[in-house]
Amino acid sequence: MSIDLHCHTTASDGVLSPVALVERAQAMGVKALSITDHDTVDAYRMLPRSPDGLVLIPGVEFSTRWKGVNIHVVGLDVDLDSPALAEALARQAAARESRAEMIARTLEKQGFTGVLAGAQALADGGVIGRPHFARYLVESGQVSDHETVFRRWLGAGKPGDVKAMWPPLDTIVAEILAAGGVPVLAHPQHYKMTATKLRTLLGEFKLCGGQAVELPAPGQGAQIEASLIGLARVLGLALSPGSDFHGPGAFTELGRTPVIRAGSVPVWSLFSASRQQALAAQGIA
Ligand code: AMP
Ligand code: MN
Ligand code: MN
Ligand code: MN
Repeated sequence: MSIDLHCHTTASDGVLSPVALVERAQAMGVKALSITDHDTVDAYRMLPRSPDGLVLIPGVEFSTRWKGVNIHVVGLDVDLDSPALAEALARQAAARESRAEMIARTLEKQGFTGVLAGAQALADGGVIGRPHFARYLVESGQVSDHETVFRRWLGAGKPGDVKAMWPPLDTIVAEILAAGGVPVLAHPQHYKMTATKLRTLLGEFKLCGGQAVELPAPGQGAQIEASLIGLARVLGLALSPGSDFHGPGAFTELGRTPVIRAGSVPVWSLFSASRQQALAAQGIA
């Protein structure tokens, strides 16, 4: 049995369709699943509210900015019909459109061609992001591999890492709360922060209304796991298990998430009463 509260579909930069993703989760024995596409909840329009054998928890992964760093915040158990959510997503969509144009201009200045149309075609009507640009450059034969694109042009601090249009962290946290959701700081191990900076980030996140932090999947941040568990306890943050699965064959796998041990507060204890009842029916306390 596993619980996976962070993954992606073709509605953003994932490889599997929402239906295929839920089927994979069912096959792998995932009992509670949240699809958290980047800045969209469109996957939920293609799924039943209660697929067989698992509890589906509406979620989304928002892009934000904090001290010049692109920080991701997952909103879990959000109300999909909330006007606050719709408003936030509309603004993020507009930001992604203008950002995509800026990324394309930046890459064309480096000599690449056909960039915007190529990335848009790969996004195929879903939310466009840097992985679509990377895939386009590789598939059109302009760069040898995905990793090289990120290392040289799109990764943190590179010219194509455009983040100026993302709203501040506290704005997104407030919007998730207004949409009835639980704000979760995503994948803290990815930000490559010093322990002091990470503590400051988590402290500020808590102060502005943040409620949980993700715990790295086994093998993806073992060095900071113990300190995260401790920090979460001191700050009064719950823990959330999420794989950040984007597709088969990559370094993460759906349902491969850490167990939240006794003594820590699991994020689902903050979900709505009806959601907690559904989880209890699946044997999740
Ligand atoms: P965006 O949403 O446009 O900011 O793109 C962020 C996404 O790019 C992440 O969610 C990952 O899927 C992917 N990504 C970020 N950094 C890397 C990297 N260094 N190598 C491969 N993929 C990455
Ligand atoms: Mn992604
Ligand atoms: Mn992320
Ligand atoms: Mn993610």
